[in-house]
Amino acid sequence: MAKLNVIKGDITKVNVDAIVNAANRALSGGGGVDGAIHRAAGPQLDEACRKLNGCPTGQAKTTPGFNLPAKYIIHTPGPIWHGGQRNEPQLLKDSYVNSLKQAVLHHCQTVAFPSISTGIYDFPLDKAAGIATAAIQDFDTPLDVTMVCFDSMTYDAYVKALEAAKG
Ligand code: ADP
Repeated sequence: MAKLNVIKGDITKVNVDAIVNAANRALSGGGGVDGAIHRAAGPQLDEACRKLNGCPTGQAKTTPGFNLPAKYIIHTPGPIWHGGQRNEPQLLKDSYVNSLKQAVLHHCQTVAFPSISTGIYDFPLDKAAGIATAAIQDFDTPLDVTMVCFDSMTYDAYVKALEAAKG
């Protein structure tokens, strides 16, 4: 079981083995956390992403962290919320699980996630926090995972989900 912590902060600044990027399927960089990660990692990241030929929703691909404190960036395109009838919950879970698998593959022990899909992709926050918390806590490798929440609303949702999971 992976251990989960929730903090408020900027994921480009955290000192972990790998950070996860809420990417788009082209891995082309964009707005939100994706843009912040591309700016902080530097132009070498754009070049590394171009060589990966994109990534399907719910899958994950890894690059070096370049100028970031993190050694690796794990890029996963989460689902765009279309109302919940297009397999969005399963695809969001897949993003978390496949990112954690990438972390294990690269021998990482500490991993940080942003709140995937709850910004521009519009996934309902409380639902996403429940899915993320369960996916991380059910993962069977003992990783140290941090959810890095950019704003108070997001932080509160993940703290609530974590407390609910404790029962
Ligand atoms: P998506 O397209 O998957 O919805 P967004 O980047 O729009 O991704 O939003 C995902 C979450 O990341 C939102 O909660 C947003 O506030 C947050 N976010 C934006 N910048 C950062 C950052 N530097 N560190 C951590 N989280 C961030």
